[in-house]
Amino acid sequence: MNAAVTTSPVVGPPLWLLLELTYRCPLQCVFCYNPIDFAKVEDELTTEEWIRVLREARALGSVQLGLSGGEPLMRDDVEAIADEAHRLGYYTNLITSGVGLTRERLSELKRVGLDHIQLSFQDSTKEMNDFLSHTRTFELKKRCAEWIKEHGYPMVVNCVIHRLNIDHLDTIIDMAVRMGADYLELANTQYYSWAHLNREHLLPSREQLQKAEQTMQTWRERMKGKMKIFFVVPDYYEQRPKKCVNGWGTTLATIAPDGMAMPCHTARMLPGLSFPNVRARSMKEIWFDSDAFNRFRGQGWMKEPCASCEEREKDFGGCRCQAYLLAHDAAAADPVCSKSPHHRVVVSAVERAQQTRVPEAPLVFRRPENSRSYS
Ligand code: SF4
Ligand code: SF4
Repeated sequence: MNAAVTTSPVVGPPLWLLLELTYRCPLQCVFCYNPIDFAKVEDELTTEEWIRVLREARALGSVQLGLSGGEPLMRDDVEAIADEAHRLGYYTNLITSGVGLTRERLSELKRVGLDHIQLSFQDSTKEMNDFLSHTRTFELKKRCAEWIKEHGYPMVVNCVIHRLNIDHLDTIIDMAVRMGADYLELANTQYYSWAHLNREHLLPSREQLQKAEQTMQTWRERMKGKMKIFFVVPDYYEQRPKKCVNGWGTTLATIAPDGMAMPCHTARMLPGLSFPNVRARSMKEIWFDSDAFNRFRGQGWMKEPCASCEEREKDFGGCRCQAYLLAHDAAAADPVCSKSPHHRVVVSAVERAQQTRVPEAPLVFRRPENSRSYS
């Protein structure tokens, strides 16, 4: 019997609001999650427009706010936006590479009530950090970490993990401990956007992953009660996909620098969806009534094997962007799932990752000129 559900889902508020204030960033990370054609987005929202979005989303029930990018500190109004967010009662997190941060800016962000800062590193060594981001930023990041501590923030360090740095996990964790980190997020690369382009270089081998997990467990024991370590296995090594963005249009609203509203920050790539813009429509209309936010809500859109799968409540069929990238169909089951007819694509990538050969295509850095060539 086909157990597919076609009733309309109950829609709650967009509890998480992610503002990608700009796609500008001095770094050129090979795993960057920004769209490949980010360089064509130049018309950023003004301070007043961002503040209107904040107010409208708060009225809908948004409580958690992420200020991200690109590098959000490329804009000089982060302080004004954080100020208004605090006044409205958001819990606000600044997600930064550290470039653009100064002691003065940090004092002002503290004064206006910014709650949380997440600082990213690319590796524990200057050479690899600077190579992966194609900038000399390692020393600057270390200084930023000291200032963040000085200003009384919890120290939250993020490092994206992949084939080129996973063998340094021990020294990455050691670096975070020396910095006095309270939280360390070891975020295994998600293969979208620039990371998808560079996947043959970045997907670790099974042996690398197993070693990394052992290292991380040893540190977790050692640092119990002192530092929390988060580590998520890359989904290519799983048999089931993740519940992407907690389910399309259930929790997260992302606003891109040009005002495009999306249920996740990579959704811009999906064809056949016309994403609404906050310049033309209110957050209320966008969240409840737009085709883009409703297209993959609930389960009515699902095809087989998801439509009759008993696990569909757990993962909502996985990630729509991954389904599009790997199966060329945004409504397909995420190919990470072993029940997907396209699962072989993931298995082949994992098999190739066990080999030691150097990929034929060179690493592509997230440069505006490279981005323009994909536009
Ligand atoms: S991943 Fe790297 S290049 Fe992309 S926005 Fe973050 S710091 Fe900039
Ligand atoms: S078939 Fe679809 S719903 Fe079932 S586990 Fe796989 S991705 Fe999830």
